[in-house]
Amino acid sequence: MDSFAGPFVRYRVTPPVTDFDELAASARACRACATVLPVEPRPVFQISPTARLLIAGQAPGSKVHASGVPFADASGDRLREWMGVADAEFYDARRIAILPIGFCYPGRAKSGDAPPRPECAQLWREDLLALMPQIRLTLLVGTYAQRDALGPGKMRERVGRFRDFLPDYFPLPHPSWRSHIWMRDNPWFEAEVLPELRAHVRGALEAET
Ligand code: SF4
Repeated sequence: MDSFAGPFVRYRVTPPVTDFDELAASARACRACATVLPVEPRPVFQISPTARLLIAGQAPGSKVHASGVPFADASGDRLREWMGVADAEFYDARRIAILPIGFCYPGRAKSGDAPPRPECAQLWREDLLALMPQIRLTLLVGTYAQRDALGPGKMRERVGRFRDFLPDYFPLPHPSWRSHIWMRDNPWFEAEVLPELRAHVRGALEAET
């Protein structure tokens, strides 16, 4: 359920900031929803203007909030395995950007983490993406990222017809502990989707500019 309590302060500058470092610094210093988050805002993302592959995630969990390193948790281990990349490549911001729908840990809900803060994508996403023109492929990791890019729809169905969204997007389930059960119930994901995912990740990372 959306826990947005609004109103919130708009930090977005109009017209949009076109200097990459300035915009990234503003996003890292953002406190727009400090009054509604259960902990101090700590925006966690990884970006550069030369990135080829974008991982569009959901929001940091508590471990990532503590470390400040995106996907430095069991979900990240699983995602790297799915993608077929080692830590060094995953954390090379020159090639891989990691931009969740919400940059800060949103706290807990009844069954898992709360949804990403809705104001975050409104404030930052479009302007940051505009300054990463070399992105070849975006991995839509989980329902929130898929909804943001593709509109309403069912996650399982989208993952099953991932080819329909190429070459721009590759929809994936969120690699949380629940994905273990999801993969058991959907064995086609490991057999058919993951080999294609690894090939497309490699293709995006090694594409000529
Ligand atoms: S979640 Fe996004 S909008 Fe909210 S404080 Fe963090 S960076 Fe700012």
